[in-house]
Amino acid sequence: MYDGPVLDNHLHLDPVNGRGVEAAEAFADAGGTHLNVLNKPSWHLVGEVDGEEGFREAFDITVEVTREADAILRGRAWPVLGVHPALVSQLIDRGYTPEEAAGVMKRGIDVAAAYVAEGPALAIKSGRPHYEVDDAVWDASNEVMRHSFARAAEVGCAVQLHTENAEDLTEVAEWAEAEGLPRERVVKHYADGYLEGPIPSVIADRDELERACEGDWPFLVETDFIDDPERPGAVLGPRTVPKRTRWLAEQGHDDALRRAHVETPSRVYGVDTEATLE
Ligand SMILES: [Zn+2]
Repeated sequence: MYDGPVLDNHLHLDPVNGRGVEAAEAFADAGGTHLNVLNKPSWHLVGEVDGEEGFREAFDITVEVTREADAILRGRAWPVLGVHPALVSQLIDRGYTPEEAAGVMKRGIDVAAAYVAEGPALAIKSGRPHYEVDDAVWDASNEVMRHSFARAAEVGCAVQLHTENAEDLTEVAEWAEAEGLPRERVVKHYADGYLEGPIPSVIADRDELERACEGDWPFLVETDFIDDPERPGAVLGPRTVPKRTRWLAEQGHDDALRRAHVETPSRVYGVDTEATLE
């Protein structure tokens, strides 16, 4: 039965308002080994952000708690840093034009790319709103996303996307390639079990996981645990990926589990989850 590494590809640790590293301990206790830790939206961590300084502050909090998680795991924890696409609406509410908002968000992406180039971060997070917005906001958001592809291509990393619900994002994968980033370095976070275009990071729901396991495409698994004490139970808890992994192993999905926890992380991020296991 599968007993290799177990990666949660998208989880938040919030040492300011939430459980912080304690949630990583729960993940490890349940059998989890590797974590990609996303910074929470900047407004939850440091309030209003208008430029590079605010983004740095939010990223530094995440880098520090990820370092603490890294110290207690059998494998590794890596920060994935970027700009939540809903920031565009917050900035517009505060009087920015869509173009000005895109400018602020691109600076945030630039800072995230620098954290990849200079060391602590593994990948960049970007995307576009999952809710209805007008055309100018949609275009500005797509421009930010394309900027993230260009920066990721420069520094040689992957991009995790937050987008609308979709099972076909071929156009987005084509934009990445036009910016010099291979489509297999583009990941859609909170994905269904199947996705056309980028790599799906499948939310750890039983049905969607079975769908991914029964296919032959690369995929990752995530909880999107938000570490928010005000919304307990709003999302899957930090123990979910290891628990679901054991459940899938009992059903004989060993090859698919290797794909999710070893082969796809290697293709997407260039990490070796087996060699980094103690
Ligand atoms: Zn998230």
